[in-house]
Amino acid sequence: MELEAKQLRLLKMMDEIDNHAIILLDKEGNIETWNKGAEKIKGYKADEIIGRNFRVFYPEADRQADLPSQLLAQAEAEGKVYHEGWRLRNDKSQFWGAVTITASYNEQGDLIGFAKITRDLTERIKAETTIRLHAQDLEAQNKELEQFVYIASHDLQEPLLNVNNFIELLQLENADQLDETGRLYMDIISQSTHRMRNLIKGLLDYSRIGREKDFTNIDCQELVGFVKEDLMAKISRTNGLLLYDSLPRLMAYPTELRQLFQNLICNGLKFTKPGQTPVVTVSAQRHDNHWQFAVADNGIGIDPVYKDKIFKIFQRLHDRETYEGNGIGLAHSRKIVEMHGGELWVDSVPGQGSTFFFTIPIH
Ligand code: ADP
Repeated sequence: MELEAKQLRLLKMMDEIDNHAIILLDKEGNIETWNKGAEKIKGYKADEIIGRNFRVFYPEADRQADLPSQLLAQAEAEGKVYHEGWRLRNDKSQFWGAVTITASYNEQGDLIGFAKITRDLTERIKAETTIRLHAQDLEAQNKELEQFVYIASHDLQEPLLNVNNFIELLQLENADQLDETGRLYMDIISQSTHRMRNLIKGLLDYSRIGREKDFTNIDCQELVGFVKEDLMAKISRTNGLLLYDSLPRLMAYPTELRQLFQNLICNGLKFTKPGQTPVVTVSAQRHDNHWQFAVADNGIGIDPVYKDKIFKIFQRLHDRETYEGNGIGLAHSRKIVEMHGGELWVDSVPGQGSTFFFTIPIH
């Protein structure tokens, strides 16, 4: 008796649930019970639907493909089946249903029917579709912009090269016709065009990232060794130290990864207090599905309010006289990390040093 009372209470509770359609089906899939949620999601009153087959909820193509029977057969064979897809309401409008069908057996172990629980996930699927379309849109716009930057910077190089060549000619052949002020002006023009060439080259490199994809197995210990050789002049000029040990092998884009290490290490060597010996340490830590690298320095550090700004292109925190540079390195670096599917960020104590972290997923 007590058991019966409990069952009744359970049935009553099921009946009241209004955000899940909970229904019982017989062995053939005919509907035996109908709760508030089913009425709300599918739009039928209990007396309109009880006794009919649950196939009515499936669009024509799914019925043709015999999906409802297949789901019942799978639930019978495996005890349970989960399926998501478009379903029909009473008024023939569609909703995205997430359905679990569980087989029910009697005490002898014979199949007696099915319990079916459906959730309406239309809003979620709509939101996901909007986000996906938005992302596709953004990606297309981004590609277009990159193409524009590439063409613009490429085309800008040529007239600039001309200006440069003629300034050099003027300096070589006509220097004696210029007075001191004239020569000073020429020097300034020459420095400016030189700087502009660097900026344009930076832009061109930035827009080129990821154009030639060559995904290979890389020994980072060896790669940082090459970077060290490239930076030897800078390191010995500052008496600096570049420490690295047990860096892993991983799958990545070699040219870009080398550029990334070079940018971060260069900054570590560059942004030091006057007279201080820079010490840059590169290390890596394995996580479940990615490597986390750290490039740490003992330099001037970065005020936390600027920890996002520094990754934007052409953003710098110092004038060029104090620390040379053009503000492209970190934007470049972030793009490289993102093309690998990782993240790049900084932790710093101003006056004591900075650590740039980046992750590279393990493939
Ligand atoms: P650049 O080095 O050419 O200035 P970056 O894009 O590499 O350009 O860096 C942007 C700015 O971020 C730098 O101008 C500097 O202000 C700050 N920054 C980058 N790395 C460091 C570092 N290791 N220590 C302190 N400041 C840094």
